[in-house]
Amino acid sequence: MITVVGSINMDLVVGTERFPKQGETVLGNLYTTVSGGKGANQAVAAARLGEEVRMVGAVGSDAFGAQLLEGLEKERIHTDGVKHTNGASGIANILLSEGDNRIIVVPGANHELTESDIDAHKEVLQNSSMIILQLELPIAVVEYTLSLAKELGVPTVLNPAPAAGFTPAMKEAGFLTPNETEAQELFGENWELELERYPNRMVVTLGKNGARYFDGEKHVTVEGFPTKAVDTTGAGDTFNGALAAALAEGREFKEAVRFANAAASISVEKFGAQGGMPNRADVLKRMG
Ligand code: ADP
Repeated sequence: MITVVGSINMDLVVGTERFPKQGETVLGNLYTTVSGGKGANQAVAAARLGEEVRMVGAVGSDAFGAQLLEGLEKERIHTDGVKHTNGASGIANILLSEGDNRIIVVPGANHELTESDIDAHKEVLQNSSMIILQLELPIAVVEYTLSLAKELGVPTVLNPAPAAGFTPAMKEAGFLTPNETEAQELFGENWELELERYPNRMVVTLGKNGARYFDGEKHVTVEGFPTKAVDTTGAGDTFNGALAAALAEGREFKEAVRFANAAASISVEKFGAQGGMPNRADVLKRMG
């Protein structure tokens, strides 16, 4: 079983012809709510691939909280590890316009998760074949989960996003999966050299170009699968869920990266982060 310790958000997507200026009101032409949060997205990605997945996180007492839980359960994800707080659920306010986006995330319930909540799920963590984390929870909770996992001997995948939350202690994660922008934030322009310190355990995703890692002797680029991208939101989340699933199943690192590239390439063909996440048969078909 894969356990995701991570964020659960409702994405409030608003589209307009052009972004409003400061103090200005404009009319929008799109409003939709979709389940998101990097944690929940990665949980869904792994579950679609047929993995048994448990979510550890938090939602609020508002209507979004119930909706978010229902969404996870529809994907067969165990939600008994999700805490219910008295406040608001986490939300991401996503403004789409001029072919670009502006996003405000309000963590809400996500930031009410504590180290003792993690302790309460120690047995679940111990029985996991892989633990997936991102940086949308309190930093102390991520650090605590990583050290507990290490103590329990359970492998971890840390997706260091958003990169601003990354701390040196997190280098202890089993696997690290920054995208190119995050790799630059974490390690500077020379991030490629830094890969050599994490052989077969850090992979940098490169959008349509696939992903890059160091295998102990040489740098390896695992080519992406060419496709017509409709919406690349959630590509990284699909990559992470799929990589964790493949590694948990004992695939070689290179094969796991290839599997993750294939899954992520399918996810960009449809709208929304979770909307395009593939099942296992589709991924295997793409891999050929
Ligand atoms: P993020 O979504 O975190 O910014 P990337 O943009 O690097 O991350 O994408 C993650 C992975 O998704 C890539 O490694 C690749 O496998 C896949 N991917 C992203 N964009 C495309 C695309 N246009 N075509 C095919 N695969 C893609």
